Amino acid sequence: MSATSLRLEGLHHITAMTADAPRNVDFYARLLGQRLVKKTVNFDAPDVYHLYYGDEHGKPGSILTFFEFPDAARGTAGDGMVHTIQWRVAAPAALDFWAARLAAEGVATSTAPDGSLRFADPEGLAHELVVAGDLADAPLVADAPDVPAEHALQGFHGVRAYASAPDRSAGLLRTLGLEPDADERTWTAHGADRRGVITYEDAPAGRGRPGAGTIHHVAWSAADDFELDAFRAQAAGAGARPTPIIDRQYFHSVYFREPSGILFELASRDIGFDVDEPAATLGSELKLPPQYEARRADLVTRLTPIVNPRQAEGVAR
Ligand code: ZN
Repeated sequence: MSATSLRLEGLHHITAMTADAPRNVDFYARLLGQRLVKKTVNFDAPDVYHLYYGDEHGKPGSILTFFEFPDAARGTAGDGMVHTIQWRVAAPAALDFWAARLAAEGVATSTAPDGSLRFADPEGLAHELVVAGDLADAPLVADAPDVPAEHALQGFHGVRAYASAPDRSAGLLRTLGLEPDADERTWTAHGADRRGVITYEDAPAGRGRPGAGTIHHVAWSAADDFELDAFRAQAAGAGARPTPIIDRQYFHSVYFREPSGILFELASRDIGFDVDEPAATLGSELKLPPQYEARRADLVTRLTPIVNPRQAEGVAR
């Protein structure tokens, strides 16, 4: 296979920041019905969490992660930042379900001109539910006791980002194999099994400020180290400055900033979240990478207590 025929399989994961881990778990693992698939620490600052939510199996394409920064101020998305996460749902009835479920908890929603449902998490991170239409991508769904399967979130559709001059990103995006729409604002990674999009929108006036409720980076899905190496070389050839391959325990990663300023990651699909705990009990225990195991007792006393709604029910799934 030549490098140019490689395809990114849409998005792998999206990583954001929270100042309030307990409320974050409640919003994503209870209200949105996602599964907490990994409870670990920030590998660069192990006394705070890195929380991973996903579908029932922790599949790439469904993974939303949060770094916990307990003292972080609320951030604001600006130029060069992703500002909205788009999720797929099966049908318009799912939009009605979520509008009612969110309203019942005091979460404001609005319907966009294209019919999608918009809302924000407790720290202002914007979400959008879009009807998947005729996409053949397999739905990536988590089991939640009070979310009917037909209405459940089905994984990511894409992200919306702010860019003052998105033309600057076109060359790199093309090099990575993303395909543009007619006006080169929405770019799609067409994998064999899964698609993911990024849409560039005019940036608001004023600078963005990273912080709680903002997105840190988006990761595109590559198969393995062979593909990471190939895409890494392509990105470098297009002027990006990629990191070496980094071991992130559950995947391997390469990072670089795309020309509009958005932090991109390429993450591999060949390891997964069941590498250090059984698939049946993903997310139930605090998992630490080997370099921090010796500090477990100390770290546990420092971390904010959080309640996984699945364990609160007494259901070991
Ligand atoms: Zn990442």
